[in-house]
Amino acid sequence: MLRTAVFPGRYLQGPRALSFFGEETARLGRRPVIFIDRNVPVNVIEMIGRDLVETVVRQVEPTCTLAAIDAAVDVAREVGADVVAGMGGGKVIDLGRAAADNLSLSYVAIPTVAASDAPCSSLAVIYDENGKVLNDRFVRSNPRLVIVDSNVIAGAPPRFFASGIGDALATYYEALACHRSGATNMCGGRATEMAMAIAKLCRDIVVSKGADAMAECRSGRPGSAFESVLEANILLSGIGFESGGVAAAHAIHHGLAECYETHHALHGEKVAFGVLVELALNNATDSEIFEIAKFNISVGLPVTLGELGISDIATALPIIVKRATRAGEIIFNEPIEITPERVADAIRRAEQIGQTLRAQ
Ligand SMILES: [Zn+2]
Repeated sequence: MLRTAVFPGRYLQGPRALSFFGEETARLGRRPVIFIDRNVPVNVIEMIGRDLVETVVRQVEPTCTLAAIDAAVDVAREVGADVVAGMGGGKVIDLGRAAADNLSLSYVAIPTVAASDAPCSSLAVIYDENGKVLNDRFVRSNPRLVIVDSNVIAGAPPRFFASGIGDALATYYEALACHRSGATNMCGGRATEMAMAIAKLCRDIVVSKGADAMAECRSGRPGSAFESVLEANILLSGIGFESGGVAAAHAIHHGLAECYETHHALHGEKVAFGVLVELALNNATDSEIFEIAKFNISVGLPVTLGELGISDIATALPIIVKRATRAGEIIFNEPIEITPERVADAIRRAEQIGQTLRAQ
């Protein structure tokens, strides 16, 4: 099997990075259209640098349905755009990504939260009109440019940043699972040495600097820990998951998402609990699981099902396990034999450890 890896074309991160939009985008075209999440404040929109390009701004609802993608494509054609940008949370980033792909235009991703590792990737999650996931769509190429303004990210609620840490934490464990089992990564090949090193670096940064970064985030003053963890959340985790592969932590996320009680929980919050389950599934020692669970608590991530909204574990457990272990699911990327009983045991063990820690 071939080794494969994919990357964003160019990555910019730091305070006032948005002011470079014009000169950076001018490498790709002269007339960008930016689809901006309606919830993005006006003062943030005003920070977008417009040198060297004729920027067209369109505010959109944060939704990524087939109809919304078609509408975005129509707008881009009407205004004669030669570059597409998406600015906001995950849904608008994905909306722009899918529209740019339909138009065969370069794409510029401008995340305003660091809640997951999706911005640098080629993955767009498509929803139906009722808000349910329709399918995962891999577009033909990763963004040509990703702009991450740390002042903007630090201005978002800290919970989003913590969620991104949860998503970033999973990257190494899942890449390692794929590496050990010989499973393919998200781009259809084996992980490169580089992807494994990036995934490891991603984990080491969030674990060593996550708590300090959260403190900086809560104070609204991004410093060096915040910048390092922001890079881990967006760039390292993005390359790490796509070029390294995914496994149990995200399968548990999918299982949790089947329980309506968890719908208020963010992607990375569910994934963070999934990491504890993944460790338990792989027979990690209690102290290893305790260490990561303590880390979760230090950055404000959940360690119990109760914190994700599930009060009746006996009812929820079979639902989570059924979805997590359905045929072809990514949990089978783990280097061990997967059975529903084993997964249920791992969830119970993770929950037990989480409850013990919470009781202390
Ligand atoms: Zn994720």
